[in-house]
Amino acid sequence: MTDIRDIVAIDGPAGAGKSTIARRVAEALGFAFLDTGAMYRAATWWAMHEGIDLDDPAALENATAEMPLDMDEDGGVTRVRVGQHDVSAIIRTPEVTRNIYRLDRSPGVRARLVELQRAIGSRGPTVAEGRDIGTVVFPKARCKVYLDASIEERARRRAEDFTRKGIAVDIAEVREDIRARDEKDMTRVVAPLRRADDAHVIDTTHMTPDEAVGAIVALARAAWNAS
Ligand code: C5P
Repeated sequence: MTDIRDIVAIDGPAGAGKSTIARRVAEALGFAFLDTGAMYRAATWWAMHEGIDLDDPAALENATAEMPLDMDEDGGVTRVRVGQHDVSAIIRTPEVTRNIYRLDRSPGVRARLVELQRAIGSRGPTVAEGRDIGTVVFPKARCKVYLDASIEERARRRAEDFTRKGIAVDIAEVREDIRARDEKDMTRVVAPLRRADDAHVIDTTHMTPDEAVGAIVALARAAWNAS
């Protein structure tokens, strides 16, 4: 159990708007921002790049422990480097995304990444987003939010993101990828995606990003004022 408290923990399923919203909440509060999904993505890319057997948990844990990961915020995007490779874009591709579940179910891999996440979170007030932030990584976070949206809306947003990046996608395929990822995230034996008992649920289906950011900033300010 970690005692780190100066955290806004934002969890939720793929495509609920977590990254965009969490980053803007961090800016509004003047807090650091931590995208933990980027770490699982980078570890997956690294294992694939190194030719590691993705079904060998011990090899994956070793590879994760040795991964020369470097993340920083650069003008509203998370720059992710592994050694000399800038992997910021490639870790978001469907090829990498489809393989993440093969790593994220490994307790050894998760323990390595959680350790790193806590080290980053202990540096100062942080908005951290992921799947297990309020339940496992920072269970004593001052403010916990579970961000959700309907699967149709999440698929629409994801497809729009890909189109903006010039990647052609079929919306039905995006929806199916999201559905499959929800199922894997929620049924994983270690650290499954679930709402922490003390998390505020915000459904963004019919909300603008501004509204969602405003709601979370208000919850965070209230939590800090109360403590
Ligand atoms: O949030 P994002 O889509 O980048 O997350 C990618 C994947 O990384 C998730 O679907 C999940 O498999 C994994 N993940 C996780 N725990 C976290 C964050 C992400 O298992 N805290």
